Amino acid sequence: MPTNEDAGSTDTANSIDGVLVRSANPIPHASTSLKFLQENGIPFMLLTNGGGKHESERVKDLSSKLSVPLHESNFVQSHTPFAELTHGEKSLRDKCIMVVGGEGGRCRDVAERYGFKNVVTPGDIYAAHPEIWPFSKPFQQSYYSSFARPLPRPINPASPADSLKIDAVFVYNDPRDWGLDMQVILDVMLSHRGIMGTYSSKNGDTSLHNSGYLQDEQPALYFSNVDLLWAADYHLSRLGQGGFQASLEGLWRAVTYHKNHKSPPELYKTVIGKPYRETYSFAEKQLVRHRDSMFGKDHPTALRKVYMVGDNPESDIRGANDYESPQGVEWISLLTRTGVYRDQDGRRPTWEPRAIVDDVKAAVQWALKDSGWHQPLR
Ligand SMILES: [Mg+2]
Repeated sequence: MPTNEDAGSTDTANSIDGVLVRSANPIPHASTSLKFLQENGIPFMLLTNGGGKHESERVKDLSSKLSVPLHESNFVQSHTPFAELTHGEKSLRDKCIMVVGGEGGRCRDVAERYGFKNVVTPGDIYAAHPEIWPFSKPFQQSYYSSFARPLPRPINPASPADSLKIDAVFVYNDPRDWGLDMQVILDVMLSHRGIMGTYSSKNGDTSLHNSGYLQDEQPALYFSNVDLLWAADYHLSRLGQGGFQASLEGLWRAVTYHKNHKSPPELYKTVIGKPYRETYSFAEKQLVRHRDSMFGKDHPTALRKVYMVGDNPESDIRGANDYESPQGVEWISLLTRTGVYRDQDGRRPTWEPRAIVDDVKAAVQWALKDSGWHQPLR
């Protein structure tokens, strides 16, 4: 694609942490690389498994760190695809959803800005019914009262028809109080139709599928980030949202265990974020919308190639390699040496990228060359 007419049939998707910034500091050449893409009209998306804040806040933050003007339309966080569930046939917009994780009420704010009208947090439930989790201490009570809102309905086991009913459960970000959050999620998944305070009579019925578990119109359970570990200030990696998910599944196995079960009952769930296809498919759709806004809908060239630049073989590279675009777009994975992956010991990454490059600038140079772009990035 050597000419300007082809502008935009080559695009770049980027992982942020480990590619553009590392523990809040910009990685060398990140800013010049993004500026080059902007000046040359080459569309790009920034794709992160991070979250916990609204896209607009995150973009503002990143723009100032990198001194590059960015916009939320080319920015995808782990929970951004949840916004899609506020429209369409099965819209959850007016349903009562439970949002788990993140600092205080921040993820509730994010969900509301996505368009969800009726959002409950485990903190709201705790504030109204502290007996639901007897082990939270006084400092946790003051934490919850700082953002808790009155429940739309109380938990009323005597009259289930008037009791709080949860229609979907979303883990947006890392839970801050694993004990409470696990207890509440477990309660919902074992309930009759998501009605808090009830217990499904089908649970444990071996004549039913999945031994009767999750066969009683319980709500869907969504996770946004599968990363088991993440690099924090401590010298060893810390447990991430994937750790919470693994713990919840362990608990589920223990709670639903019975010697007569042919196989352990499954905890049905939907997991998005890198490396899952939902996230890549969302990013591709968003990229197409973003191109349309740059070039106009009637632009003659369709999106053909996306270069996925990432630092993490398990998420960025694996996801790009596995993703099969319904539009036939080719995803090409490029692994940088600026983050999770280091190759000093000569070890190959667990998921093989198309190329390994030093940093994001080298990745952009590789992509420009591969696509025959007319102007080099120096
Ligand atoms: Mg990364």
